[in-house]
Formats: sequence, C-alpha cells, structure tokens
Amino acid sequence: MRTQVGIVGAGPAGLMLSHLLHQRGIDSVVIDLKTREDIEETIKAGVLEQGTTDLMNATGVGDRMRRDGFVHHGINLAFSGAIHRIDLYENSGGRAVTVYPQHEVLKDLIARRLADGGDIRFGISDTTVDGLTGDRPTISFVAEGQRQQLECDFVAGCDGSQTCTRFLMPEGTIRTDFFRQYPFAWFGILAEAPPSSDELIYAHSDRGFALISTRSPSVQRLYFQCDPATDPADWPDDRIWEEIAARVGTAGATIKTGKIFAKGVLQFRSYVCEPMQYGRLFLAGDAAHTVPPTGAKGLNLAIADVHVLDRALGAYYEARDTGLLEAYTQTVLKRVWRAQHFSWWMTSMLHRFAEATGFDLRRQIAELETITSSPSGSRLLAENYTGLPLT
Ligand SMILES: Cc1cc2nc3c(=O)[nH]c(=O)nc-3n(C[C@H](O)[C@H](O)[C@H](O)COP(=O)(O)OP(=O)(O)OC[C@H]3O[C@@H](n4cnc5c(N)ncnc54)[C@H](O)[C@@H]3O)c2cc1C
Repeated sequence: MRTQVGIVGAGPAGLMLSHLLHQRGIDSVVIDLKTREDIEETIKAGVLEQGTTDLMNATGVGDRMRRDGFVHHGINLAFSGAIHRIDLYENSGGRAVTVYPQHEVLKDLIARRLADGGDIRFGISDTTVDGLTGDRPTISFVAEGQRQQLECDFVAGCDGSQTCTRFLMPEGTIRTDFFRQYPFAWFGILAEAPPSSDELIYAHSDRGFALISTRSPSVQRLYFQCDPATDPADWPDDRIWEEIAARVGTAGATIKTGKIFAKGVLQFRSYVCEPMQYGRLFLAGDAAHTVPPTGAKGLNLAIADVHVLDRALGAYYEARDTGLLEAYTQTVLKRVWRAQHFSWWMTSMLHRFAEATGFDLRRQIAELETITSSPSGSRLLAENYTGLPLT
C-alpha cells in the first residue's frame, strides 16, 4: 500500500488532518486500534473554541454541530457565595464557544471521510513505524489477521496520550519532555438529567473545585476535585450529588440530578514534548502535549495543530516548499504553551491545594474578583477561553 500521508490515530487530530488534506487533493490513510463504534461512542471533551467551529463550518463538517450544538456566550465563576458571569462574546470581540460533544465531531468527520472515499482502517493492532529519517517511511500494522505495510511520504503521529509515535523520537538527544503532575484529580460523572445552568459554572469552594458542564439537553457532565487515589466505588450516587451541591449550592446554583451512568477519575497533568517533529514524523494533539481539562483546550489544540500541519504539507506538495514543515514545531508550540499557561492558570486559581494557607485562599478570591470586576481581567479570560485565532 502506498499513500502520501500515513496517519496513526483516528481521534480529532488524525481525522481532521485527513479531511483537510483531502480538500487539498492530498491522499492519506488513517489507522486506529479502536473500532468505529468505540470511537463514535466514547464521551470525552465537549467545549469547542470559535476557531474549531469556524474550521468545521468552512470545511463542510459543521451541519450537525450548527443544528445540535449550543453556542455559549458566557461562563460563570462561582465563589464567595455568589455566581459571577463573564460575557465571553462582549469581552472577546464577538467570539463564543460551542458545546458539542467530541464523539459527535468524530462521527461527522468519519462520515465525511467515508463519503469522500477516504481510507480509515479501524480495529487494527500492533502498529510499528520505520524509516523516519529517510524519504519513504513505512507504517506496519495487523488488520484482519494479516500484517500490512503502508509506504508514505510523511507520518502524522496523532495517536493520543497513549502514543507510540512520540517514542520514536530519541529522548535526550532529540526529545525533551516538560511535565507537571498535579496533586489532585477530577471525579467526573455523566448523568441523565436536564442542564442545571444555561452556561457552564466553574466553582471555587472551601471543599475544592467543581464544574457544572453539559453534553446535550439530556446528558450532563459534572466534575469535582478529588484525591488522585479516589476509588469511584466509594462514591454512591447520593454522596456524589451531595458533594456537588455542597460546592456550588452556597453560590446559589441548584443542581438537577438524574441517573448517573458513568463515573471516573481524570488525572491531572501538563505535558509538552519538544520538538514535535523528527525526520518525516510530525506529532499532533495529545501525542505531543496534554493539558489539565480546566481550560477545555485538549481537543481544540489537536485541531489547531493539524490546521498548521495541513498548510505545511500543502506547501510541500504544491511547490516542494519545505519551509512551513521545518517551522512546524516552532509555529505550533507558541499556541501550545499559551494554552498550557491558560490551563495552569485556571487550575491554580480555582482548585484547593492541600498545602494552601488562609493567605492562599484569600489570594485566590482576590484574583477571581479581579477577573470578574475588571474589564481587562474578563477580557484575558474570554480571549483565551474562546481560543486564540488559528494561525
Ligand atoms: C474524560 C475526558 C474528558 C475530556 N474533556 C475535555 C474537555 O472538556 N475539553 C477538551 O478540550 N479536552 C478534553 N479532553 C481531552 C480531549 O478529549 C483530548 O485532548 C483529545 O481527544 C485529543 O485528540 P487527539 O486526536 O490528539 O487524541 P485522541 O482523541 O486520544 O485520539 C488518538 C487515537 O489514536 C489511537 N491510537 C493510539 N495508539 C495507537 C496506535 N499505536 N496505532 C493506531 N492508533 C492508535 C487511539 O485509539 C485514539 O483513537 C478530555 C479527555 C478525556 C479522557
């Protein structure tokens, strides 16, 4: 088999890259360990930045999102017994976020790729990649019991945080890892319930952080800060609802409860791998970086990376111009580190740290008051939350 760009991973990064390349007339093959059903049913992220929705609309995969997604023009910060709204739209020059679940984005991209004759191999196993420093790299994998070999010009490592492609870059000589582990995690639930709030609520409380989010009119996503070693089995439904109410109720929010159908503990870490390229390999999305979910940046960064990579590959195939490919890491990392900063900032402003003193808690409240009462503070949050323009 032969293609121009071999893409490892059919998440947001891999599928969007394949879609963008196709629109330029560049061939790709996407492979993934998971089945199509698994990819289309796993509920993960749900907040799309303005740039992500603009790109989906501009490239013809935004119809269902426009119909079923919810455009949010604001978010709420709950602290000191009150809810303070930040008007994202006013404070970002007319930008907003759209709540539309990641697995629905993936359904849209898969449907479009297949309708366009795209080649996606689901449910493969045993991926290996060779020849990255030559001009004919190969990806090999097992599909339907047979080992297959895919020869390509470039390999896109879009294989998420469980990546194998990142480790093809020798550590130390080529690759440097920047890593931060946080001393807490998020306990996340999915519940069959109506939304508790028209817009998301990020709550600071003496008991720790909580987030009231949504995925659809009938499915709600709620999180609260917990110890990383928390066992979901120790948390019956009643205890979960009581804990969430204790964290946001004091600010005046009423939580609508319902049947909890998923519980899990989401570990908190920040990670960046530099560089994001090696020979003919280009990393994109979670394969190269992870952010804590507080800023809702993971999916959006994956899309922003491949937006840059698509243009760089386009310049190569149109004019054999390698300038944008050579500059890929440098271009992408600017946004990645801005998102790392924003995610870390939101995390540190809203969470309770074990060693926090009275001074730290009062400083957090003062910071939240600055953000909600100062137009400059609100603008900083709104511009970053709705997302920097795509490069
Ligand atoms: C529970 C949860 C909630 C989240 N909430 C948010 C949120 O609210 N906002 C936000 O922005 N982000 C959120 N995220 C993060 C967001 O989902 C990720 O940042 C996003 O999925 C990254 O996309 P990706 O394409 O880089 O990687 P992924 O979506 O992880 O896709 C990688 C794909 O590669 C495949 N793969 C892995 N290894 C191989 C291999 N060896 N061979 C072939 N295929 C392989 C995997 O099966 C997978 O399908 C959340 C994540 C989780 C887990």
